[in-house]
Amino acid sequence: MSGYPLDLNDDQQQIQKWVHDFAESVMRPAASEWDEREEFPWPVVEEAAKIGLYSFDFVANAFVDPTGLLMPIVNEEMTWGDAGIGLAIMGSTLAVAGLFANGTQEQLLEWAPQCYGSPDKVQLGAFCVSEPDAGSDVSALRTRAVYDEASDTWTLNGTKTWITNGGIADVHVVVAVVEPGLGSRGQASFVVPPGTPGIRQGQKFKKMGIRASHTAEVILEDCKVPGSCLLGGKEKLDERIARAREGKRSSSQAAMATFEATRPSVGAQAIGIARAAYEYALEYAKERKAFGRSIIENQGIAFKLADMKTRIDASRLLIWRAAMMGAAKKTFESGEGSMSKLFAGETAVYVTEEAIQILGGYGYVREHPVERWHRDSKIYTIFEGTSEIQRLVIARAISGVYIK
Ligand SMILES: Cc1cc2nc3c(=O)[nH]c(=O)nc-3n(C[C@H](O)[C@H](O)[C@H](O)COP(=O)(O)OP(=O)(O)OC[C@H]3O[C@@H](n4cnc5c(N)ncnc54)[C@H](O)[C@@H]3O)c2cc1C
Repeated sequence: MSGYPLDLNDDQQQIQKWVHDFAESVMRPAASEWDEREEFPWPVVEEAAKIGLYSFDFVANAFVDPTGLLMPIVNEEMTWGDAGIGLAIMGSTLAVAGLFANGTQEQLLEWAPQCYGSPDKVQLGAFCVSEPDAGSDVSALRTRAVYDEASDTWTLNGTKTWITNGGIADVHVVVAVVEPGLGSRGQASFVVPPGTPGIRQGQKFKKMGIRASHTAEVILEDCKVPGSCLLGGKEKLDERIARAREGKRSSSQAAMATFEATRPSVGAQAIGIARAAYEYALEYAKERKAFGRSIIENQGIAFKLADMKTRIDASRLLIWRAAMMGAAKKTFESGEGSMSKLFAGETAVYVTEEAIQILGGYGYVREHPVERWHRDSKIYTIFEGTSEIQRLVIARAISGVYIK
């Protein structure tokens, strides 16, 4: 290893290769089938569990990597293999991030392993924030959690929508309103343990892309969970609510804290798709002949590839910076986490569209994977904060002005 600061260490390189090999040999060959079936790819996730790639231990190690780079590296390789299957494998980490951001150490250790289960009995986690009338505007959530002191029980009622692994998960982490009128400061996160009555899947969505990832509504009807399922505990919640009532700032807001921690990894997923499309288009452009020469010999095509590669690498630099800042506990003064997700998401859409253009008619049909990659890429300007919301975060951070 040289002293160059962007070199990966030996461990990181080994893990990167291990995930890449799985992506190449297992995910890629299965990608088209599960996209067409639009079903959760259980056999592939089970194979990932068998080799330890789908496991809490693996994710926990990646989370605590002191450089912060392991999660982005793993995510990039995974979606290079296939974004839909990649999300089926990585979707449970959203629930773990929710537990990590809001739960106590005890709660994390109790519930996070249950988001994965074991190779013999694979389990899933889901993180339920969005609602039909509250997506970008998390402060408008309506799902209500009401406490009964006598029985030390919370009762949850409401409808969550667009939930990855929603209804098929074993552990659902649900953000709900505990004190109406306080916006996101009156919210808290709850674990709904496996087998709890009163939680069920609503409609399952048929999507444009990432079709192997399961996305559905989650309906909560008088869903009762014990007091111990309130993440962070009652005492901390009461203190936070009291501060909010007095108009003081709260240090963390349940849902937003989770999204901040996960944005660079989501950006890395986007460039995994972009890299796949770029590599494919580069090879194609060398092979394909028109007017008696390879199409790459035309500046019009070669410059596209130069721009694609430049934007992918620029995205990765933004992602790695944000991930390193997160690991070093630096303050995101200019919305660096949002910048990384914004730029990578838009790069993925741009690169996959250019890849279709380079393949011409062949890019538009399912014989080649680039049309799927384009469909898959679009979600990255929408979920985990739309591009507009990322710009809002960055604009507020750099200006100090509450831009609407
Ligand atoms: C496949 C998929 C998986 C998902 N997985 C999950 C999950 O696991 N858990 C979960 O909780 N959620 C999940 N989501 C929800 C996702 O995070 C939301 O869809 C997203 O936050 C946008 O919310 P919305 O769809 O309600 O759009 P809206 O908030 O209604 O936004 C509509 C448009 O208005 C724009 N807009 C809104 N407010 C502003 C503003 N202030 N300034 C400028 N523009 C604005 C938006 O950028 C967007 O272009 C998922 C969504 C999808 C599609």
